[in-house]
Amino acid sequence: MKEIIQKPRGTKDILPDDEKYWRFIENTISKRCQAFDFGKIETPMFESSKLYTRAIGENTDIVEKEMYEVRRLVQNIEKDGNDETLVLRPEFTAGIVRAYIEKGMFVWPQPVKLYSFGPVFRYDRPQKGRYRQFNQFNLEVLGNADPLTDVVLLLLTWQIFSDLGLKDEIVIEVNSIGCKNCRSKIKKTLINYFKQYKSQLCEDCQRRLENNPLRVLDCKKEACANIATGAPQIIDLICVECKDHFKQVLEGLDDLEIPYDLNPKLVRGLDYYTRTTFEIRDIRDESRQSSLAGGGRYDNLVELYGGKNTPAIGIAGGVERIIEKIKEVDVKIPEFKKSDIFIVQIGESAKKIALKLIYDLGEKGFSTSCSLGRESLKSQLKAADKTGAKLTLIIGQREVFDKSVIIKNMAEGSQETIEIDDLDKVLLKYFKS
Ligand code: AMP
Repeated sequence: MKEIIQKPRGTKDILPDDEKYWRFIENTISKRCQAFDFGKIETPMFESSKLYTRAIGENTDIVEKEMYEVRRLVQNIEKDGNDETLVLRPEFTAGIVRAYIEKGMFVWPQPVKLYSFGPVFRYDRPQKGRYRQFNQFNLEVLGNADPLTDVVLLLLTWQIFSDLGLKDEIVIEVNSIGCKNCRSKIKKTLINYFKQYKSQLCEDCQRRLENNPLRVLDCKKEACANIATGAPQIIDLICVECKDHFKQVLEGLDDLEIPYDLNPKLVRGLDYYTRTTFEIRDIRDESRQSSLAGGGRYDNLVELYGGKNTPAIGIAGGVERIIEKIKEVDVKIPEFKKSDIFIVQIGESAKKIALKLIYDLGEKGFSTSCSLGRESLKSQLKAADKTGAKLTLIIGQREVFDKSVIIKNMAEGSQETIEIDDLDKVLLKYFKS
């Protein structure tokens, strides 16, 4: 017996039955983003590994253990003179910032507002809601430090989740983790606090303690979470300017009546975040997979890549998790358009006419489907029913001979025979637009 090859662990096949969800989400996001004057950007699925090690931080899970390297299978032939290590993108922001600098977007009118949609790759431990290849929608605003920008991005996110029918299923959590000037005071204070409990922290947190003590705050392990409850709050340690910035963000959210929760322990997994951070959580889910979207300011990232000082902010949402949520709460989503016409054919000559009709009707803007095998009339009619087509055209030997076609109105079950030359005229009757 031949070995059956299976998909890699942590990946998903998206089958036609799910297409409507993907379309719904992508259409909803595009529509809202365009209304907010965001332009779509697509960056490569693989980039230089330096892009991520420099920005995301050496001591983060993504860089330490989750990146996939991209290599040619055959090594050492026809070297292209570029030996850099390439990796599959584990997130969008770094690639977008690279493009912002490389494509000179800093001379465009600022801020530059961009959205994207597509797969990212992380070597994570697969389970429900956690995959190794998953899709994100991603929103970025580059070139503006104003707290109102944070508010606008959260408003757009809020409206996207409302349009997706999930307004009552989510909570927006917000925090501020200060600017780079605040960072050393925050780190020192947190190290001092957690040091006392070092032996009780999990292995990861013991390691994080020296380099990335902020991450200890969002460790989900019970022992670490209990210790973190008594930790000093970041918000008390940030500078006056950062406090004022955050105050204005919260006032903006209040003015727009966007509900939010303050979460003083909310830090982000990546090193490059500054000031406002936020997460959209599923209110009914306590697990680690409850995060539906997350993001924040990254005011120093463009400079870190050699660009000029460019404050920026972004958010990324997990599409698979959103689809799971939409299914769970049974959001009614629009059925996307099915075939207009199904063509049933019996016999070789009828099949040729059917093919010609698929071509002609397609040119006229109709969507058609057909089973081109040798199935019986009954099973072809069953297939027609399944596609949801409005009309079925039936061509058998008699119709070939008579140069006619039977039109069946699927909703009413009625049918009529017409001359094939009159088809256009008759179709107009059924499809007025
Ligand atoms: P992050 O880039 O880690 O801030 O993640 C942004 C969003 O992507 C999260 O809020 C999740 O919805 C989603 N996400 C992150 N990791 C995974 C994963 N391994 N599998 C599926 N979705 C994920």
